Amino acid sequence: MKEVFNFSAGPAMLPKEVMEKAQSEFTNWRDLGCSVMEVSHRGKDFIEIAAKAEQDLRDLLSIPSNYHVLFTHGGGRGQFAAVPLNLSNANDTSLHLVSGSWSKGAVDEANKYNHAKVVGEVSEKDGCHYVAQPQLSDIDQSAAYYHFCPNETVDGIAFDWLPESGKVPLVSDMSSTILSQPLDVAKHGVIYAGAQKNIGPSGLSVVIIREDLVGKARKETPSIFDYALAAKSDSMYNTPPTFSWYLAGLVFEWLKDMGGVDAMAKRNAEKAALLYSAIDSSDFYSSKVHPDNRSKMNVPFHLANAELDGLFLRQSQEAGLLALKGHRSVGGMRASIYNAMPVEGIVALVEFMREFERVNG
Ligand SMILES: *Cc1c(COP(=O)(O)O)cnc(C)c1O
Repeated sequence: MKEVFNFSAGPAMLPKEVMEKAQSEFTNWRDLGCSVMEVSHRGKDFIEIAAKAEQDLRDLLSIPSNYHVLFTHGGGRGQFAAVPLNLSNANDTSLHLVSGSWSKGAVDEANKYNHAKVVGEVSEKDGCHYVAQPQLSDIDQSAAYYHFCPNETVDGIAFDWLPESGKVPLVSDMSSTILSQPLDVAKHGVIYAGAQKNIGPSGLSVVIIREDLVGKARKETPSIFDYALAAKSDSMYNTPPTFSWYLAGLVFEWLKDMGGVDAMAKRNAEKAALLYSAIDSSDFYSSKVHPDNRSKMNVPFHLANAELDGLFLRQSQEAGLLALKGHRSVGGMRASIYNAMPVEGIVALVEFMREFERVNG
């Protein structure tokens, strides 16, 4: 099989080493003669790797001991509902910074359960998408929480500052950026992430939540979304997505072997710089995102002549560069370059882009 580089936004590629390890023990895990997905989540073997996965994640992100780590169902969107149900009453206000389509999705879902108020939105600066930090004076200090998404997967919009929230707990949707760089967990009330971008297979989401925010769920909260039940039962109130949890654990081990999130941040910065410089150094390609807000994980770019999009996609796929089609709401191309994407993948993409421009430019 020829080598391919998979730029899918999610479910996204997983590290090759992890996939090979999973393959090597697929039908005979721990010499039990069966797969990890065929054993009880309450058995000693699974509990051991589940606990190790949590500990490795705690180590990787230096998660303080007054935070719970929950492994839950329902993906990122599940948390769009779980957060308002656990953190607010029907009359409460939740604050939202809308930097792209996922943080907008969180507003729409929260509005079913509380009064969601938008405190900031994407604007334009120098003809590009730009996110300004909302003023602290505009942050209603009686709000239940303040939700934001530091990396917008669809739009490729990111910001590296933390919204100023006063005493309102910050809730961050880190589905597409968790583990890509160091993170100060203690400044957040809740961090959540659907797994299928930077953690493992879909079906799992990780929630990191400060202890004092747990135990306030409304009575109508579905039990499987109740953070207190999840915390009390070590995320095994009902059957968790065991295979996804196992594979996430392998990814955490891989990250540790790679030098942790500091090493990842360095590699991710290098990868993004390579790709953006290829885009910026040519009139054939362009980015619509302001340099201050360019994502290091999801890189949308456009061809000057959109009529060439189809040809670009066909030929890139033939060259082993997969899933470069931009989201339908944005158009153009998008290269998702999460932790698992090696530098060689970016080098191959940039070479392809140069050659495509030479022939068609
Ligand atoms: C993918 C994604 C989601 C939605 O995840 P699902 O698991 O499909 O529900 C939410 N937020 C962000 C930032 C995402 O990238």
